[in-house]
Amino acid sequence: MTTTLSHNWRVYGHDWAVAHLQQSMVHERIRHAYLFVGAESVGKETLARQFAMALNCQNPDSRPCGECSSCRRISSGNHPDVLYTQRESETSALKIEELRLMMQKLALKPFEARYRIAVFRDFDTALPRAQDALLKTLEEPAPHAILILLASSLESILATITSRSQVIHLRPAATEIVYHTLIDKFGTDEDQANLLAHLSGGRIGWALGVLKDSSILDQRAQAFDLLDGILTMNRVERFKQSDDLSKDKAALLTLLELWLSFWRDVFLLSEGTGLDPTNIDRIESLKRLSARLTAGEAAAAMSATRKTISTLTDTNANARLALDVMLLDYPFV
Ligand SMILES: [Zn+2]
Repeated sequence: MTTTLSHNWRVYGHDWAVAHLQQSMVHERIRHAYLFVGAESVGKETLARQFAMALNCQNPDSRPCGECSSCRRISSGNHPDVLYTQRESETSALKIEELRLMMQKLALKPFEARYRIAVFRDFDTALPRAQDALLKTLEEPAPHAILILLASSLESILATITSRSQVIHLRPAATEIVYHTLIDKFGTDEDQANLLAHLSGGRIGWALGVLKDSSILDQRAQAFDLLDGILTMNRVERFKQSDDLSKDKAALLTLLELWLSFWRDVFLLSEGTGLDPTNIDRIESLKRLSARLTAGEAAAAMSATRKTISTLTDTNANARLALDVMLLDYPFV
């Protein structure tokens, strides 16, 4: 059963998390550190921003009101007491210098708001030694300081950090919730909403990103066309592709995430699970492949892709080499 709670937060598909944070405000049990965990574009940063608005809203009746000067400036990213970490690039780790600097800024009294809040984007990219920079603050936080850590998984986060934080897991929203949110809140037409709800895999932020920039769909189509092509290539041709693709690691990771979702769909179809595939716009090529491949072969391609993603994310591994191995593990059709 899907229940929709009434609240002012512009957060969709995470009602229980909103309810939980609201309760902690009502009962004045606000923690000094929160850890929001969930997939890319699932809504972690949106929830953090809305929570920061609620905490510092000047309107006593409905926090966040979305209209007071504090709410408006937090919403647009221009509030002096709400800070965000930055990484040097999409593939670099969150650096210890950046974390130390943030701790210094957080120790200052709020300039004007009730709380001084630091949002740590991609905290799971910080190495253990860098994460240690937070410990002193977590052990003896200034009364006004709140840390909101965002991470795609808990795996690489120190136990000393998780044990001092309120961990909130954000699961992907149901397809139907994304669908209705797009229509009701963003005026999307039904066909577009249906496609985006499926493709989003429950990550509303991803669907909203496409509404703003439809070239994401073109890049997606190119990624799948490329995969269709690669599967018909021989070894030599595949090595040539690997050489091209390994030059841009950030683009490669985006590509591999898409291919992973494609292989998952092939697996679902060849296994005959009856579950809806995610990539409904590629249904022809999904059906063709699932008829030719066994579920085991699809699972092997899925696991080869997952392994390559983790190699590329976790280490300074040779992208070219990892990709060569993966492309040879892909079926030849
Ligand atoms: Zn407000």
